[in-house]
Amino acid sequence: MTYFEFNEKFPTDKSILQHFRTIRYKNGLTCPHCGSTQQVGLRTDQPKLCNCNHCHNTFSIFTGTIFEKSSTDLKKWFFAVHLVLNAKKGISALQLQREIGTTYKTAWRILKQIRTAMGNENLEKSFELIVEVDETYVGGKPRKQNNNLQFTTPKPKDTSTTGRGTKKTPVIGVKERGTGRVYARVALPDHNGQKLTGKQLLSVISAVTKPDTVVMTDDFKGYNIINHKSTNPENFTHISVCHSLGEFSSGKGLHTNGIEGFWAILKRSIIGSYHHISTKYLQSYVNECCFKQNNRFVDSFDKLLWQSVLAA
Ligand SMILES: [Zn+2]
Repeated sequence: MTYFEFNEKFPTDKSILQHFRTIRYKNGLTCPHCGSTQQVGLRTDQPKLCNCNHCHNTFSIFTGTIFEKSSTDLKKWFFAVHLVLNAKKGISALQLQREIGTTYKTAWRILKQIRTAMGNENLEKSFELIVEVDETYVGGKPRKQNNNLQFTTPKPKDTSTTGRGTKKTPVIGVKERGTGRVYARVALPDHNGQKLTGKQLLSVISAVTKPDTVVMTDDFKGYNIINHKSTNPENFTHISVCHSLGEFSSGKGLHTNGIEGFWAILKRSIIGSYHHISTKYLQSYVNECCFKQNNRFVDSFDKLLWQSVLAA
């Protein structure tokens, strides 16, 4: 959607409210108190609100959504959604503040809420046939020239540079080859302080992957958990591509290039727009990248509005 299309689609608050209602209440307005769909009417004095003539309660169409409890103009909210979705490499809170004319704090909060909605995508057990699985590491390289490029907060004497065994934060990603959809989770250390255990890898894979799927990984030993019947109840078939033996893209479809390409996008957006990401918020940036990837061929604006409903 372009800026002009946005303006045409949402000229007034009324048009925004009407659009939101059609997305949230596909089957008609529903009272959250009694479930009635028959006797619910819009209030003319406050168009956000509805009256239920069955249980005589009032409710807001934004209850349980990311828009609840916000005093920011709806048009600013919707325009922020538009900007976030159009920014291929992401948009910083500072940039959003300039674009919609709010305080920095408000812009930051709006971004956080939009990312929460982005992470509200239901991918449970939906990947099938072939998935590629890989991990990446996000964290500041200890570079002398540019200390601002530290994405997370490494320990002061972290002199490691890339990859496994460093103090950077690992992110585990699963990409469904057929559709290109991606699911990725920040992997914080377990209660023993261990990162990237086989259990951790497998739980991320099986969260989104149907039983009997082919799982392609590199030769990291953590994935060996999939090779044993007792630890692989969902009967995934494991194919490991041996990078260290130079088996990159051997032409037989044995590769993890898809998920590696996604990491490149994630890293570009972190370097391009965000500079500094604390581990605490890393998952929300990962969610943003996944949402954009997964909804690139659909109306992502309406999809985001649909996912803005957080509570049933
Ligand atoms: Zn009711």
